[in-house]
Amino acid sequence: MRQYLVTAESSSELKSKLKEIKEKIEIEKPKSVLVRAFLIEWKLEKVEEFSETLRQGLPMAVIVGCGSNGSIVNAHVMEGKHLFVITLFDKTKLETLTYEFGRGYEGVISNVICGEIDRRKDTRAVELFTTLLKFDARKFLGGIHFNDKDITVFGSNVMGVIPNANEDIREQAFILSKNGVVKSGAVVVIYLSDDLHVNLYRVLGWKPLGMQLEVTKSTTRVVEEINNKPAYEVYNHFLEIPNDENFVANTIGFPFITQEYNHDVLRIPAECTKEGYIISNAGIPQGRKIRLTYGNPGEIVEEIKNCREKVRQFKPEVVLIYDCILRKAFWNTGIDIELGPFDKFPSTAGFFSEGELYGVKAGIIHNECTFMLIAMREGEGIELEPFEDEKIFASKEVSMLKRMATFVEKTTSSLNSAYQQMSILNRQLQTMNVQLSYMALTDELTQLFNRREIEQRIHNAFVNAKAKGSTVALIMVDIDFFKKVNDTYGHATGDMVLREVAKIIHNQVNEDNDEAAGRWGGEEFIVLLPGYDSVGAQKVAERLRREVEEHEFTGVGQRTVSVGVTAAKIGESEEDVFIRSDNALYKAKETGRNRVVVL
Ligand code: GH3
Ligand code: MG
Ligand code: MG
Repeated sequence: MRQYLVTAESSSELKSKLKEIKEKIEIEKPKSVLVRAFLIEWKLEKVEEFSETLRQGLPMAVIVGCGSNGSIVNAHVMEGKHLFVITLFDKTKLETLTYEFGRGYEGVISNVICGEIDRRKDTRAVELFTTLLKFDARKFLGGIHFNDKDITVFGSNVMGVIPNANEDIREQAFILSKNGVVKSGAVVVIYLSDDLHVNLYRVLGWKPLGMQLEVTKSTTRVVEEINNKPAYEVYNHFLEIPNDENFVANTIGFPFITQEYNHDVLRIPAECTKEGYIISNAGIPQGRKIRLTYGNPGEIVEEIKNCREKVRQFKPEVVLIYDCILRKAFWNTGIDIELGPFDKFPSTAGFFSEGELYGVKAGIIHNECTFMLIAMREGEGIELEPFEDEKIFASKEVSMLKRMATFVEKTTSSLNSAYQQMSILNRQLQTMNVQLSYMALTDELTQLFNRREIEQRIHNAFVNAKAKGSTVALIMVDIDFFKKVNDTYGHATGDMVLREVAKIIHNQVNEDNDEAAGRWGGEEFIVLLPGYDSVGAQKVAERLRREVEEHEFTGVGQRTVSVGVTAAKIGESEEDVFIRSDNALYKAKETGRNRVVVL
């Protein structure tokens, strides 16, 4: 198995280059030939021209292809040229299936595809090019699973080419096939062999940021609400990215992460509507837990290194890379950091895609912003010496911080106020490895939520409770005679006591139920218990009080807290509830401390 990589700027250039390849193929007599065409072109007549040139130039070949956002040739970017990856197989038979279809036929076609694969023996791999934005992608991809076969499934969503598209890129989508150009549907290549080995590797390198969120309202591709607020507000809140014309550009480095079939997947805002709804290519179902993430260069380099070593051990004869165009946008000119490490492998080629697909038992996963590598060999493969890791990456790592800075500058450049720009930039740079939004939410000393955040959460809980007709309870906690601790043992020991009390309070809280604990100020804390009435809250409060009483504080011994508990009554304002919980706490102090008072 081997590969010829042909690049061309026009179909006439392709034509003359194919002559030479055809002669080679006639001498080498492979069992089968596959051409993957990655065209930086979407005009239909040009696409047809390439398609015809390939059919005539290599009549023995199976042809697939799609629009591309740039070519990857020998593991480096090649700008401005179409790429034709011509793979010669000695022991593998190829078959293609072409389906032209639109909305409403997703289930039927996925069933047909499963049937076709199941009835063939020796299927080793399945490659799929499909126009997912033309129909219900989830339905189609979810329907493709095979009966217990160890088959590697990979492929790409197909769209128009972004740099040239001033019209709707969905409309520009096309798939090349031997039978011509498909504007809506799927082309499937089936690899049949008893000695073909195909492995798939994947690198994300995006790290979670801040707390877990939930998609509370969504339709196929549109996330309408997150935590019951218009989706974009998450970006505004955590990253100060407003819903304006730069929203998509500003959010490139900060996709959502969620899970499909227990695999991490990223979701990138492709559009934000007036209402603040976020549209992504793959969508996120309602009820899904999500988090924001940020692209972390160090993490990516680490994962790429691991990936390269695994690929080396696999001993590939050819390597394909389908890398998301948004990763190229993220790295800017530094994209070579994630591609270059693979340039010692024989014939590493691919393209910048717009949706990377790979199959698990239950279906095909629609990935975004993903580096996907497919390694293939027939037989034993080609052995490479171990790489000298550090040398390759050392020189590049030096400029990593600079690239990060460039990136952050770009993503924040549309913010109006210079102050906001500086603060986001500084925070991001200081905390490349720290969860930055977490810092903005939490109190530094106790790691509980800070006053602003807990107030926000209490407010949300009230809004929610009102909508659902349910209850909310609050617990106020104040350390007894805390001043004495400071006076006797010093401020540092006082801080220790605050941290230990905070830990006990935090232990009472079930975050899955949106319960939360915050530092209200000084040595006062508050616990939010959505869905609790005063009886339930009293139990929590009593347990909390007792655990503090029984705790041995480092260097201080026993301390106590006073606790005020209250639950909201129907139609009551937030403020009234706050006042009552404060009164309850005051009463607990007045009546002797180390006690729980419910009002
Ligand atoms: P009471 O039982 O009535 O609540 O008495 P108290 O001494 O706990 O209450 P008071 O409000 O008189 O004093 C609270 C003290 O908490 C005063 C302040 O110095 C201290 N304090 C507030 N914030 C911190 C902090 O972050 N660290 C430390 N070590 N002390 C703090
Ligand atoms: Mg106090
Ligand atoms: Mg106190």
